[in-house]
Amino acid sequence: MQQQTLKQSISLQGQGLHSGCTSHLQILPAKADTGIIFRRVDLPHKPEIKALYYNVTDTRNCTCLSNEAGAVVSTIEHLMAALNIAGVDNAIIEVDNQELPIMDGSAQVFYKALCDAGLEAQYAERKLLKVLKEISFTDDKGNTASLLPVEHSGMSISFSIDFPSPIVGHQSFEGMITPRVFAEEIAPCRTFCEKSQVDYLQSIGLIKGGSLDNAVVLDGDNVLNPDGFRVPNECVNHKVLDAIGDMFTAGYRIQGRLVANKTGHLHNNILLRKLFENSSQYELL
Ligand SMILES: [Zn+2]
Repeated sequence: MQQQTLKQSISLQGQGLHSGCTSHLQILPAKADTGIIFRRVDLPHKPEIKALYYNVTDTRNCTCLSNEAGAVVSTIEHLMAALNIAGVDNAIIEVDNQELPIMDGSAQVFYKALCDAGLEAQYAERKLLKVLKEISFTDDKGNTASLLPVEHSGMSISFSIDFPSPIVGHQSFEGMITPRVFAEEIAPCRTFCEKSQVDYLQSIGLIKGGSLDNAVVLDGDNVLNPDGFRVPNECVNHKVLDAIGDMFTAGYRIQGRLVANKTGHLHNNILLRKLFENSSQYELL
């Protein structure tokens, strides 16, 4: 399988979830072996930040990258998931803000734009990583994420969550991440939160751009969004979306199985750091 880039560039704009500022994105084709690079065009000298796990510097409310000079780009995970599954290996993403636009809180807009732009094969082999040994991380609450070897090609994910809102409760996802599964069951799934959490985050100056247009807001037994959920199990499927994006910061498409229980961006990043600690744990194909 050859590496691919976009046939043509893509322009998108929207609000940042936390800053509330409008940010403009240009996703540009890039030559083979570039990988995914963000470029902050609003900063002097337009610094570049490679979308790689060792540049992930904050995982509290999103996945945030920084370079050595301190240039930051945040909320990359939904676009990274769309790039991963659309089959884009090389792209330069110009952004004029610290934060990527949240769009509708899902990866749907990004994924459609990438598919519509079309892809071009390049003269280099796609970078694949096969997991050879189990890697696990358990946090201080006992929540565990693991990466396991598999016989099949591609990535499979088993994810479960237990959420206090009774309308969500226990949800689980299990399956291979194929383009069809991604397009139908994963990409449309939006960020979600409790109303009480929204009130708190707004009180400390975060999610200034948050609204029912870019998040599912839960309030006890109710979904405050007038149209409710987009797909059954939208909440756990959004966690799967985040994980697909975070795993692409490996710089390789991973052949393996992610098993995750109540985990998030922090766990995803620690798994990759642990994976790359020892080259006997993986094989580059
Ligand atoms: Zn997310």
